[in-house]
Amino acid sequence: MSLVVGVDIGNSTTEACAAHIGQDGKITYLSGALGRTSGVKGTTENVPGVVEVVRLALARAGCDPAEVQAVLVNEATPVVSGLAMETISETIITESTMIGHNPGTPGGVGLGVGVTVAFPNLPRCAAGSAVICVVGAGVDFEDAAAGINAAIARGVRVTGVVVHADDANLIANRLGEPVPVVDEVTLVDKVPLGMPAAVEVAEQGRTIRTLSNAYGIATVFELDSEQTRMIAPVARALVGNRSAVVVRTPAGDITDRRIPAGTLILIGEKTKREVEMDAGAEEIMSTLRRVRPLVDAVGDPGTHVGGMLARVRDTMSELTAMPVDTVRVQDVLAVDTFVPQRITGGLAGEFALENAVALAAMVRTSKGPMELLAARLREALGTEVLIAGVEADMALLGALTTPGAGRPVAILDLGGGSTDAAVTTDGAEVHSVHLAGAGDLVTSLINSELGLENLELAEEIKKFPLAKAESFFHIRMEDGTVRFFDKPLPADAFSRVVVLTDSGIHPIPTRHGVEKIRQVRRSAKHRVFVVNALRALEQVAPDGNIRHIIGFVVVLGGSALDFEIPDMIAEAVAEFGIVSGTGNVRGSEGPRNAVATGLVAGYALARANGTAVRG
Ligand code: ADP
Ligand code: MG
Repeated sequence: MSLVVGVDIGNSTTEACAAHIGQDGKITYLSGALGRTSGVKGTTENVPGVVEVVRLALARAGCDPAEVQAVLVNEATPVVSGLAMETISETIITESTMIGHNPGTPGGVGLGVGVTVAFPNLPRCAAGSAVICVVGAGVDFEDAAAGINAAIARGVRVTGVVVHADDANLIANRLGEPVPVVDEVTLVDKVPLGMPAAVEVAEQGRTIRTLSNAYGIATVFELDSEQTRMIAPVARALVGNRSAVVVRTPAGDITDRRIPAGTLILIGEKTKREVEMDAGAEEIMSTLRRVRPLVDAVGDPGTHVGGMLARVRDTMSELTAMPVDTVRVQDVLAVDTFVPQRITGGLAGEFALENAVALAAMVRTSKGPMELLAARLREALGTEVLIAGVEADMALLGALTTPGAGRPVAILDLGGGSTDAAVTTDGAEVHSVHLAGAGDLVTSLINSELGLENLELAEEIKKFPLAKAESFFHIRMEDGTVRFFDKPLPADAFSRVVVLTDSGIHPIPTRHGVEKIRQVRRSAKHRVFVVNALRALEQVAPDGNIRHIIGFVVVLGGSALDFEIPDMIAEAVAEFGIVSGTGNVRGSEGPRNAVATGLVAGYALARANGTAVRG
């Protein structure tokens, strides 16, 4: 009987599986363990992480490390994923044209349209003219209300009010005729005067309808189609607000500058094609299909895409001491996204959502560093270390330890940096692929699309359900149900959207509602994992046809623990007549530990067959 430990070094996680293998090849699994991968997968930086999980697995098994006959590691060729978000266009509004902020308590309700007039000039306005009164700093609310009432009495149509102080309701309540009042406009001096403007305030609990709609703004200001196109980002930035002001500045002040998007050059084994980044994710991915198998990808120097691919290459070359020109991009995944961009010229730091394309790229290098890593591990562990198999093949063997799983089988390994797939038929032949884009990309998309600038929080939003803290003692979950608490919730959670993590209730500092955050979360998972699952299965399927995959798909990896992703994949592949389910490796490990377990199973098999394992 011999004691072996299988070790899977992943992009995020290093997993181990300890087992006894009998003379007859019979395996007795003893324990499993996992820890964070130290450094970049497949490099000598991994040594401390591997040592740690091997110790942990042996301690759990109650085994003496001196008895270990071999540590089996996967052929972990290093993979570096890079991520670039390329904004397709940038909108710059040169004049201050909008105030889109959300004061806590705007006054009045409705839409007012007129020419902007400073409060002191109100007495000079002609009867019958429609005006928006701009009340600057230092004007008392009673004086403001009295002045506006006097103008209205003279026949001036004051249709809306913009105020510096937090006085909207104090003014609105004193007006003879109710009009919309937007307050807390800190930069009130910058509001252009003598210009057509519109003020909109929605009823409490509602959002504005006219100024958040490009055609609404076009109607108010009688814009032609070209002008409407230019004003569109303003409308987009105002979506979801309870109040807004839009001032129409003279023609020519609004400019729309398009930054040329870079070109991605995809070099395949037989053909080479170029695709513009601004063509969008779908076009990029369909171009990739036409050049597959990919040999390399490059971008125009001086563009985002060029810079990003160069960065990935540099990082890889640094880590593995390979010359830069030998590093090849092996796969890319393009995803449509949007990034909040500050609008130049907004008076309250408004953002518009700009379309962008995110690109995850993966680079695979030679096996050289792996041999070096094995040598270092031999020193550190004081045992034999064998490079014992290709990851996807091992994952298949591990997946087969799931109760109820049998050949033919396909696996989808959803990790942090890559999505891997493999199929095996009744025979021993295995087809596998290794694709860019997985859990970490989902986290990045959530982070950027919600403008969080906090990857840890984005990771929590990905993994855990949302709720709204409606009182100090109850929350409404995203599915509509209510949960009560005996102890008051943290003060900073009150009236906030929160994420219910396993380490407590964390507020999300954003003005997005539960529904919006949920939609971004689900859509990010869909754009990465459903796309990659189909792409991966298509590449391993007989004749490239997913329908020819007979049998079951076992979903594995850290991202298979997700509360939504396995269902999304099951739904997408059901269309092709495939049944997919989350793996339960060795009947106990859930979707984790497949590769580590497979390494042990493969070793036992090889020994039973008398075949050697590479040392
Ligand atoms: P790798 O094989 O690349 O090391 P893993 O299989 O460890 O990757 O998967 C890591 C990914 O799994 C990360 O993106 C992480 O966010 C994700 N993940 C881990 N636990 C969960 C969970 N409970 N729900 C959703 N995603 C998870
Ligand atoms: Mg993995």
